[in-house]
Amino acid sequence: METASWLKRDKQNVWHPFTQMLTADEPLLIERAEGTCLFTTDGKSYIDVNSSWWVNVHGHGNPYIGKAIADQFSLVDHVIFAGATHKQAIRLAERIVHILPPHFTKVFFSDDGSTAVEVALKMAFQYWHNKQEPKKRILALEGAYHGDTFGAMAIGQRGFFNEPFEHFFFDVDFLPFPSVELEKSSLEQAEKLFATGEFASVIVEPLVQGSAGMLMYSAAWLDQLIALAHKYDVLVIFDEVMTAWGRTGKLFAMDHCVNKPDLVCLSKGLTGGTLPLGLTVATETIYEAFLHPEKTKALLHGHSYTGNALICAAANASLDLFEEDQTWVNIARIEEQHLGFLSQLEQLTIVRNAAVCGTIIRFEIETGEGNTYFSEIRDKAYRYFLEHGCLIRPLGNTIFVNPPYCITESELEHVYETIYSFLKVCK
Ligand SMILES: *Cc1c(COP(=O)(O)O)cnc(C)c1O
Repeated sequence: METASWLKRDKQNVWHPFTQMLTADEPLLIERAEGTCLFTTDGKSYIDVNSSWWVNVHGHGNPYIGKAIADQFSLVDHVIFAGATHKQAIRLAERIVHILPPHFTKVFFSDDGSTAVEVALKMAFQYWHNKQEPKKRILALEGAYHGDTFGAMAIGQRGFFNEPFEHFFFDVDFLPFPSVELEKSSLEQAEKLFATGEFASVIVEPLVQGSAGMLMYSAAWLDQLIALAHKYDVLVIFDEVMTAWGRTGKLFAMDHCVNKPDLVCLSKGLTGGTLPLGLTVATETIYEAFLHPEKTKALLHGHSYTGNALICAAANASLDLFEEDQTWVNIARIEEQHLGFLSQLEQLTIVRNAAVCGTIIRFEIETGEGNTYFSEIRDKAYRYFLEHGCLIRPLGNTIFVNPPYCITESELEHVYETIYSFLKVCK
C-alpha cells in the first residue's frame, strides 16, 4: 500500500533519466542502502551489482565517509571557489596530484563526469588557441561515450541516443575500435590524421569502453596511440571517469600503460559514490599556456558548486579507504573470482566475447540479432535478475558485473549463479 502510493507520486512528478516513461516498469522504491545491499519499502533486498551506475566503490552508507561529510558540515559547507579556497579542496588536489604520474600538477574542479570531459576539451582547444597554433580537430574512438552534455555528446558515438541533436555537434574524427584485428590499421589511420598537424587532441576511455558494453582493448595498443600522438604534438585526454579507482585492477587505467596522457578526467568512484564531483587534471605545460597578463587567456569556466567542501571531504575520505590494504585485497579477490566465472561462461555456446578486466566481467548473449541496446533480452534479463535479488542493468544484450569492492565472496557467487541460471533458461 505504502509503496504503491509513493510510486504513484513518483509517476506524477518525476522524470527519470534514460527511461521511456510510457513503457518502463515501476522503479524500485529504495528505503535503505547498506554495504552492497539496497532495501525496498516492500521488504525486499537487492545486491547492487553495478555499483549504482558504476559509482559506488566502497559500499553504501560507509560510516567513515559519512563522518567525514558530517564533520565538514560543521566547518564549511560550500563557498565560492573563485577568490576563495578551503583546506579540503587543497588537500584533495595535493593527493590527486600525488597519486598520478609526476607530470600532472593542476586540478580543476567541476561537477560530474560530463563536466570533467567538457573542461578537458576546453583546456585542449584553448591551449592551442592561446599558443596561437591553429589546431582545431579532435580524434575519438568509435563506440565512445563521454557524457550527455553537448561537447561530450559530440565526441561520443553518433546514433539513436543523440540523433535529435546531431546537427549541432562539432566535427570529430572517429578511429575504429581497436579490436585485435583492427589494432594495426587503426594506428595507421591515427598516424595519417595526426600527420596533418591539425589535431588538437585525441580522447579515449582507456582500456574499457563503458557504455559501449564494457568493451576491452589492449594497453599495448594504447601505449602506441599515445606515442604517435606525442610524436605529432597532439594532446592525449584519458577519460577515466569509469576506469579509475580500482575498476581495472589498478588505481587508474593509465597505470597499465608506459606512456601517459596529458589530461585526465575523474569522477564516478571519486567520492566513493556518495556525492557528485568531477576533476580534470592537467600537466604544468598545459597550465602555463593559460598564464598571461590578459584575463581572456584564462580558463573562463566554472560552476556554482565547484569545489564544494562537503564533496571534497567525501573524496578525501574515499582516498583514505584506497590507502587501506583491505580495499586492494577485495579488488584482487573479485578479479580472481571473475576469472573463475569466465571459464565457466566460456563453456556456453550462448555466450560471446566474455572478458575480464580488473573488477569488471562482461559478455554478450547470442541473440542472433547482433548487438543492440534495445534488444528484448535486456528487459527479460533485468527482470529475471531482480526476481533473484540482483540489480544488474545490462546494456542491450551485454551483461556485466562491476560491484562495490566490499561485495562478499558468497554474494558474488550468488550473482554468478543467478546469471548462469538465466542463461540456462533463456536459450
Ligand atoms: C559515466 C561516464 C561519463 C559521464 O559521467 P556523468 O557523471 O554521468 O556525467 C563520462 N565518461 C565516461 C567514460 C563515463 O563512463
